[in-house]
Amino acid sequence: MKISTIGGNVAENSGGLRGLKYGVTRNYVMGLEVVLPDGELMWLGNKCVKDVAGYSLKDYSLARKDSGVITKVLLRLVPRPAAKKTMVATFARMDEAAEAVSAIIAARIIPCTLEFLDRVTIHCVEDYAKIGLPLDCEALLLMETDGHPAAVADEAARMEKCCRDCGCLEVRVAGDEAEAAKLAGARRSAFAALARVAPTTILEDATVPRSELAKMVRFVETVAKKHRLRIGTLATWETVICIPRSSLMNGMKRRCAASKRRSRRFLRKRIRLGGTITGEHGVGLPKSHFCQNLPGLPRCA
Ligand SMILES: Cc1cc2nc3c(=O)[nH]c(=O)nc-3n(C[C@H](O)[C@H](O)[C@H](O)COP(=O)(O)OP(=O)(O)OC[C@H]3O[C@@H](n4cnc5c(N)ncnc54)[C@H](O)[C@@H]3O)c2cc1C
Repeated sequence: MKISTIGGNVAENSGGLRGLKYGVTRNYVMGLEVVLPDGELMWLGNKCVKDVAGYSLKDYSLARKDSGVITKVLLRLVPRPAAKKTMVATFARMDEAAEAVSAIIAARIIPCTLEFLDRVTIHCVEDYAKIGLPLDCEALLLMETDGHPAAVADEAARMEKCCRDCGCLEVRVAGDEAEAAKLAGARRSAFAALARVAPTTILEDATVPRSELAKMVRFVETVAKKHRLRIGTLATWETVICIPRSSLMNGMKRRCAASKRRSRRFLRKRIRLGGTITGEHGVGLPKSHFCQNLPGLPRCA
């Protein structure tokens, strides 16, 4: 977040912690100046909120990622929300946290942030960043709501109720902006914290419909226990398989191959639950095989 550029965000159509309510970069791009591979300079899009003239080359360009070098971006700005509340709910079981997410969405609440950290991730983050996260729980949900003060108060109360109904241990409300930034920082530093404890990680971003989250979480837990794997589940339920340092010295190749097999098992399970093989990072070479072998998915080159 500190080092990424507007050009890189547009090229990757990046999303962040507030994506649930505010969407991704594409939703804010109104126009682009692009230098095409043959050197031609092209302006795509404009300041008009409504425009259906011709093909939407701006969106085509955003979807392709490799259509040229972006030299100017016309962005839509949104006003800073009048109020914001940041909360952390802790749970004794991962699937209870997953159920709370489904309950919040089913209650038609759209928080700006609704992110998950499991025990493995919480402990790694705490070792690394010393944020003061609760360590006596199996999972936590980081929840943020923003907007009109009355709406924020109402949504925060209803989210707290959803968490309590799903058996949460505690709901902590950030006292001020500094504490809220610290809690959001826990999520932001999670990948770095996990990478610190394991030199090699396999990050999996396959997603399932929200109603199937609890089933998926239970499945990941079972596989992790059975094969004694250290798996962090975090953010929008991405799984990170940590391959231990000792494996570097001792049969790394075998261990890596086994972890990759488990990762593929997670993918297959997600497809069976009505999910997709990638929610954010894209197909790329490692997953192109899945497109060719799974029924119902488009074939890719
Ligand atoms: C630890 C970590 C966490 C991340 N978390 C998230 C996340 O939560 N959500 C998410 O969406 N993404 C995430 N990302 C990936 C993220 O999309 C990119 O890191 C970042 O947003 C891209 O911006 P950048 O300036 O770093 O681009 P770079 O990494 O520098 O570039 C990314 C790509 O864009 C191209 N590019 C850069 N500038 C231009 C330009 N002007 N015109 C054309 N092409 C250009 C580059 O050639 C490259 O192919 C994460 C990455 C890391 C390392």
